[in-house]
Amino acid sequence: MVEQFSAVEVIIAKRDGGELTDAQIDWVVGAYTRGVVADEQMAALAMAILLNGMTRREISRWTTAMIASGERMDFSSLARPTVDKHSTGGVGDKITLPLAPLVAACGAAVPQLSGRGLGHTGGTLDKLESIPGWRASLTNDEMLDVLGDVGAVICAAGDGLAPADKKLYALRDVTGTVEAIPLIASSIMSKKIAEGASALVLDVKTGSGAFMKDPERARELARTMVELGNDAGVRTTALITAMDVPLGRTAGNAIEVAESLEVLAGGGPSDVRELTVVLARVMLGAVGLDAVDPGDLLDDGRAMDSWKAMVRAQGGDPDAPLPQARESQVVQADRDGVVTRLDAYGVGVAAWRLGAGRARKEDAVQAGAGVRWHVAQGQRVTVGQTLATLYTDTPERFPAALTDLSGAITVGAREDVAEKLPLVLDRIGH
Ligand code: URA
Repeated sequence: MVEQFSAVEVIIAKRDGGELTDAQIDWVVGAYTRGVVADEQMAALAMAILLNGMTRREISRWTTAMIASGERMDFSSLARPTVDKHSTGGVGDKITLPLAPLVAACGAAVPQLSGRGLGHTGGTLDKLESIPGWRASLTNDEMLDVLGDVGAVICAAGDGLAPADKKLYALRDVTGTVEAIPLIASSIMSKKIAEGASALVLDVKTGSGAFMKDPERARELARTMVELGNDAGVRTTALITAMDVPLGRTAGNAIEVAESLEVLAGGGPSDVRELTVVLARVMLGAVGLDAVDPGDLLDDGRAMDSWKAMVRAQGGDPDAPLPQARESQVVQADRDGVVTRLDAYGVGVAAWRLGAGRARKEDAVQAGAGVRWHVAQGQRVTVGQTLATLYTDTPERFPAALTDLSGAITVGAREDVAEKLPLVLDRIGH
């Protein structure tokens, strides 16, 4: 086959600050998926994009080309309206677990394709896999069946969905090109648009534990994704939410499932419940189901019923005890004072070091590993009070995790308490 372009000319065009044509973008994404453009060439192009950016037209075309590299799902046979949520990832961010069954209990269908954790942020599938029997991989037909029966499904994206992104994301991860807004936006939105939900709510995190530490960059990412979604006919809204302190009281796998169950039972940490309800309202509003108050369904057990049905439909036993780590260790306050900082990034790294996350894609995670913090930023504590509990099956991991945690939870004077971001900073889109 005679190729339309050469990879080198496309790389040079972007390296020199030029705009790529539609034909160049279609070709380079397609040829990379076919293996004609080599990894090192795509890595050079990704770095040129990171350094020189892309116009709105280029990002939109790049996203379309990534969608065209694979299949598109079709949920039009479902009686319920479909709405999905995506979070850019944070520490203790277990919101998808209570949210998907809650929104299903309110009458929508939630086809939630999720990922595994890499680095300091946890992955929804890793958390759910701590439930005995639960399986993440479903065929498209199984996914449709669960959606029809239960209204919510959380599963792994199949290989057929945006294969260009699968290859490119793995490459970016090892070439320092993850942080480019055009590449993040097109990566997330190509999968979400190909998945075929009629509406989408994006939870774009900002703060130390987020990808986008700076709120202005988070807003720019959110705006870019909202435009891509709406241009593709998916009604898209983004909330910018806080990730300077971790969400809830736990970061890990099984311990986050347990905390999600508290929320589904009408209790749980107030920030987890609040964000779950806020996101549910936006999702329901996007598909015209705003007469329902999602908080009521957490309180009256209907969201929990929907969770149990969802877990059972994927082979899991919702009543089985969750795995527990073999070892634990506590961190205590070394003086009287106030918790001046509870830093999301440090807590996330500690949980990761304990075995809750993985260093390489192929590593296994420990179901029981993680961190539970017993205090909030700004809370008064006394010497000897337990600040956090660390869990792992492999106690040789404690020293490194303790080092990270001691930098992440600090006790001092009231006037030194770090400023805290509001839970929801902004809303972009409908
Ligand atoms: N999540 C994705 O799917 N892609 C990115 O580029 C970043 C986060």
